[in-house]
Amino acid sequence: MDSSPPRIFVNDTTLRDGEQAPGVAFSFDEKLAIARALDAAGIDEIEAGTPAMGRDEVNTIAAIAHAGLSCAVMAWCRALQSDVDGAIAAGVRRVNISVPASCIQMHVKLNAGPSETAARLRRIVAYARERGLEVAVGFEDSSRATPHDLALLARAARDSGAFRLRYADTLGVLEPFGAFEAIRRLSEATNLAIEFHGHDDLGLATANTLAALRGGARHASVTVLGLGERAGNAPLEEIAVAVAQTGQFATHVKIADLNDLAASVADCAGRAIGEAKAIVGRDIFSHESGVHVSGLLKDARAYQALDPAALGRRHAIVIGKHSGLAALRAICGDLDLDPESEAMALAEIRALAQRTKRAVPVDHARRIASAFQEIISARRADSRVWP
Ligand SMILES: [Zn+2]
Repeated sequence: MDSSPPRIFVNDTTLRDGEQAPGVAFSFDEKLAIARALDAAGIDEIEAGTPAMGRDEVNTIAAIAHAGLSCAVMAWCRALQSDVDGAIAAGVRRVNISVPASCIQMHVKLNAGPSETAARLRRIVAYARERGLEVAVGFEDSSRATPHDLALLARAARDSGAFRLRYADTLGVLEPFGAFEAIRRLSEATNLAIEFHGHDDLGLATANTLAALRGGARHASVTVLGLGERAGNAPLEEIAVAVAQTGQFATHVKIADLNDLAASVADCAGRAIGEAKAIVGRDIFSHESGVHVSGLLKDARAYQALDPAALGRRHAIVIGKHSGLAALRAICGDLDLDPESEAMALAEIRALAQRTKRAVPVDHARRIASAFQEIISARRADSRVWP
């Protein structure tokens, strides 16, 4: 029997939902470069854009669709023939057709109830299928929809030839136990594959996505750095590493690519990556506390869960208010400091870190230690001359 963990398929929507983040606007070249980098990083499917946005967007989607990528390239459509026609013009073979699933959104967006929405979904999926497209359907605001309405829409999707459902927590209202339960219930109501699309308004998008996978979803919708509307989406790097780290599932994402991918998307988006951002932040493998540094130097496993080498990174010892002699010796071992210089240098470095409210860079800390060593050596030499 195959004991390997179930495979999770990753759909990256950095170029569609990610670009909806306030103020983010990728150029044609940036979108193409991001698409290539996502493909190289092992992403299964890219949501490349929204044809309804016009000719430029259609041209960009077309360039991505014809870039010779190994991943699937899809376009995002509303339940409108003109949107599907735009996707066909862009040359994609796969579309995500989105319909509202909650009563409030069906009413506000379509002025329709559940049965009319289901009928509309059947018509548009059939229209796209007749034109040779593979169709995934997205249920917007699924988390505020009734199970009955979701099941109704799921039947309409399956009967008209869709291959997958997207459960979208559009407003980020779920918590992990609710996400697990909602997906478990939906997977009992349909035999179509389920994708989970989570938003991070409560800081729970990653947790909700993992819970949805446990509940039966086999596709995760993500964006690099969680870029997206409001608080953003489930971050690709967090989902890929969490899936690998917990071992319950497997993806084809190349973990070693995530750091560079995040840096280039941040650059294109004009956004800085938080220093402590999980998986890709600058400081996530930095250690300052004396207790941690000394444990780490004895055996890295003492303070390491995630292996930095998997991400092409290394542990870094930084010197600051919480540093001890172990940290100082780790960065100044070659300076041959005597105990008095060490103690004075450490006190000075800690005081400096406190005054400036930041870690002292390693070369600066070394200069401080060398200066104290010189002072102490000079004083000793003096005391020998003038006993
Ligand atoms: Zn979204």
